[in-house]
Order: sequence, then C-alpha cells, then structure tokens
Amino acid sequence: MPPTLTFIPPGEARAFSVSKGALIRIINSEGHQVVDTWAFDSSSSNEFLSMAHSRSSLYRLFFKPGDTLVSNRFRPMLTILKDTSPGYHDTLHAACSLESNRYYGAEHLRPNCQDNLKKIMHSRETPLQAIPCPWNIFERAVILPDGELKDEPSLAATGDYLELNAEINLVLVCSACPSLIGNISSGRPRGATVEIINQQ
Ligand SMILES: [Zn+2]
Repeated sequence: MPPTLTFIPPGEARAFSVSKGALIRIINSEGHQVVDTWAFDSSSSNEFLSMAHSRSSLYRLFFKPGDTLVSNRFRPMLTILKDTSPGYHDTLHAACSLESNRYYGAEHLRPNCQDNLKKIMHSRETPLQAIPCPWNIFERAVILPDGELKDEPSLAATGDYLELNAEINLVLVCSACPSLIGNISSGRPRGATVEIINQQ
C-alpha cells in the first residue's frame, strides 16, 4: 500500500487504521501545532494508549526516541523511532473539552479535541466508556522545581515530525488542537499532517 498523507485542519480530527509494523509520522506541517493523539486496540476501544501506564513503565514524565508506550493493560502500542522537533510532547494535560473551556472561562472556544474524539469513535461504531488522557504531541508543558506545571508555546517548527512504529493493529486518532488556552500553539493553531507508511 502506498504511503498516505492526510492534512488535519486546525480544530479537526482524523482516525487512521494502522497495521502492526506500520510507520506513523505526525508532522507539524505548518509549525507550532499541538496534536492531541490517542490510540486504541483495533479490536477493542477498552484497551487504549495510556499516559499513566506509559509513565509507570518507562519511569519518565515525557517520552523520547527508543521509548515504547503501552496500553492500559501494559501492552506495547507505539515505539518512538525518531523526533526532529525540540522534543516536547506533554503527557499530563487532559484534552480540551466543552467543560474545560467553561472551567477556564472560554465558553466561546469551539470546537474541542474531546468532542472530536467522541464523534470520530461514535462514527466508527466504537463509542467510548471514558476519555483517555491524550498524548499531547508537540505541546510544551514545563514542570517547575516546586511542581508547578507551566504551559509554553510549542517550539515545533514547520516540517518537524515524530516517527512512531505501531506495535499492534490499532486505531490512531489525531486532533489538531484548536485551544488558545495557555497559548500552546504559539498564537494560532495551523493544522498538522499525518503520514502512514505500511511496511508489509
Ligand atoms: Zn485540544
């Protein structure tokens, strides 16, 4: 199968069926874009990429090339092969949602990554029981010495990418985060591109 390149406009999401052994490139095609990313076992959305379990298995708060991220059942799901960005990929923040926008006094902000995920999974007839914490690729969240978590604008430049290997057959969902809270996308979300390269 030839590689597929899919542009995700800001505020939108796309789902991809990815075979075990395929390469995934999440490309910051316009620069400074945060990409909320989820992965689910292709046969059950009850098994999903888990930030908490990956932090526990890797004993790290943030992940780097060579790391294998795991599911909520500690099964390998994604291995980071290459990262051309400055390396900031938050694992701590919840996805933006109607409720979080209300909480931060930004009810006017629409759409949001959580609704994007819910809609996409519903359309695939795999509705979710709960919303996993996303892997916030290219999001620069910094932990200060006293434990405070601070948002900084993404440093990812145009063309920077994160390359992943799929360890199982999975459904990948990527949302080009539209949030302006914390200025995480350096002023203006611009969209991102996902490339899937099947190895077989
Ligand atoms: Zn978002």
